[in-house]
Amino acid sequence: MPTPPAVLTEVTEECPACGRETPHTVRIEIRTESTKPENRAYSREPYRVTVCQRCETERAQRMNDA
Ligand SMILES: [Zn+2]
Repeated sequence: MPTPPAVLTEVTEECPACGRETPHTVRIEIRTESTKPENRAYSREPYRVTVCQRCETERAQRMNDA
């Protein structure tokens, strides 16, 4: 399969809501965070957002948390 041009891809992952592996769509989303009140510089963090195609549960995982 050639590399898809868009960031939207499909993967099979464990869905806690379904309790089984289901197809998910994956997209990368840049979210602005202001979690540090003393730091006025907002950080833009990339998130990996997966949406279960079975129950439509959306999960966002910060990509920098490795
Ligand atoms: Zn699910």
